[in-house]
Amino acid sequence: MNNTLKIIGCRAGSPLHAAPASGYLLKTTKGNILIECGPGVVVNLENEEVEKVIGVVATHRHADHCLDLMALAYRLLFPVLLRPLPLYGPPSLRETISLYDSTFGIPSLPALKKPLSTAFDFTPVPPGAPFAIAESWTFDTLATKHPVETFALRSREFNFVYTSDGACTDELHVFCKNCGVLLSEVTYPDEEGRDLNEHGHMTAAHCADLAKFSGTSTLVATHLSDPADGERSMRTIRRLFGGDAILAYPGLEIPLVPREKELPEPL
Ligand SMILES: [Zn+2]
Ligand SMILES: [Zn+2]
Repeated sequence: MNNTLKIIGCRAGSPLHAAPASGYLLKTTKGNILIECGPGVVVNLENEEVEKVIGVVATHRHADHCLDLMALAYRLLFPVLLRPLPLYGPPSLRETISLYDSTFGIPSLPALKKPLSTAFDFTPVPPGAPFAIAESWTFDTLATKHPVETFALRSREFNFVYTSDGACTDELHVFCKNCGVLLSEVTYPDEEGRDLNEHGHMTAAHCADLAKFSGTSTLVATHLSDPADGERSMRTIRRLFGGDAILAYPGLEIPLVPREKELPEPL
């Protein structure tokens, strides 16, 4: 089996028909890692993809990145109780887990009394700290400039970066340097009428600038606030970046090549 990064959903904000909000499945020879679990993600995951999940990452507590954690918890707990999955996120996600559980827990069913706490084994990751899943896949993180505690992710073994949500900063430029695949948010086509610094998002020009500085071979643009902006944003990105740029869509799979020395054992 090849290693790929599959786009499950890539919408900012709400899901649309057959178009979930943020959800990216890192499919590896040693299992799947679900990065983000926004609304609509669970319905777009194939059963066998769920069965192979070995870890879940939620980069921040905005609804479009974690709302389906409750749906996934129900999927893992009912009617058959599956094993708890490791869940990684910034420390502030713990409060979201607790509020979610107190709101949606079902006291009469032991497995569903606290769905998230039962379905997931949460490890808080302070932005800037690394973490490893199943002792095989290691990620570095970086605090992004976003209204809530958020981290960007960089896979050591596959050399890809996911920016999550955040404004374009010098620190993010350095974090993305020399990555092979760059999965970058491009929430808005331009700056018109938006306070991007306060709101913590990127435009098409920011995304192109980040891709160019990083020297990435493949840019995947995601998290558009309005799908109608896709063509316009990609025109700007291709003109300013000049490299290989793809607009994310559900079902897109990007091949990932493990770094030579960290090549995993074949199954
Ligand atoms: Zn978002
Ligand atoms: Zn956000």
